[in-house]
Amino acid sequence: MSTTTSSVVEAARAALADVIALPEGALPCRWCGVACTREQAAAVAEPIVLERAGYIGTRFVPEVLQQTVLCGACAAVEAEVRPTMIRHLIAGSQADRVASVLHALDALGGPAVTFTDDADALALLEAIPGAHAVSFAVGAKAGTCSARRFAHVDPLAIRSLRESVARWMRARLETPVPIAPPADGDRRGCVFCGVGTVVALPSKAGQVWTEVYVSASALGAGNGASGAIDGHTCPACTVAIASTDGPGVAALQAAVLRFVGYERRSLTPPTIQGLRGWALVEGARPSRTPWQHVDLAGLRRSLASFEGGAS
Ligand SMILES: [Zn+2]
Ligand SMILES: [Zn+2]
Repeated sequence: MSTTTSSVVEAARAALADVIALPEGALPCRWCGVACTREQAAAVAEPIVLERAGYIGTRFVPEVLQQTVLCGACAAVEAEVRPTMIRHLIAGSQADRVASVLHALDALGGPAVTFTDDADALALLEAIPGAHAVSFAVGAKAGTCSARRFAHVDPLAIRSLRESVARWMRARLETPVPIAPPADGDRRGCVFCGVGTVVALPSKAGQVWTEVYVSASALGAGNGASGAIDGHTCPACTVAIASTDGPGVAALQAAVLRFVGYERRSLTPPTIQGLRGWALVEGARPSRTPWQHVDLAGLRRSLASFEGGAS
């Protein structure tokens, strides 16, 4: 962007943002920026540090502060911070984030938000990471205030906050659905267990399946087998891969043992002879439940006798 364009944009934003000179005898509200006389203000707020103390050469320059207040409306929002935290067991260290989010919702014109539970309230804190940006203290200039409540906030920031809140609202209305792996793999099922879909929230669809590129021998085809499979693993098999040293026979064993609920009681887990990843089973369709290409009943029986022999 050229200097001219950027200064035009800056000027346009400044015009839209509507920051005006502070009237005589008034102070800006620390959150919404409106000018209040001490009589109109509901409370005194923390001053804004416009410039930090420091040295210019050898000359000490003290910090430059802008005193602020809380207007009645922003004081009412602040009064909601503690009840919100107590209702939703949010820790004390989160007080600033809760305050920022409540003020941001106020800046958006107060969309009515009722939390269903703790997770819901915490999800909103996560969903609006930039909420603090609505504070008049951010980027404030000496002797100025907002023409109207939150008029100083960049309209682009307001738009992005509005989108974040809308996304959060949509996400909490979601219901989990079966999600198939992306179509770009060689087979459309978990290359390990063969499950065809995993139930998850549509907004998390991109995080459900993990892409893998695995050799046929690592899928249990035996040493000397050639070829490789380009595909995906389901969350359970991905965990098994992470708990071993990458996609391979050890991960396959760990995944199926975990699926049948095998609790390791001896140091050496049993070795399942001839175990193969689903992707090696010629013509097999993805299944509704994992490991349908394996004789699970036989496996459970042999595990029971293995434990009987080991103890
Ligand atoms: Zn205010
Ligand atoms: Zn799987």
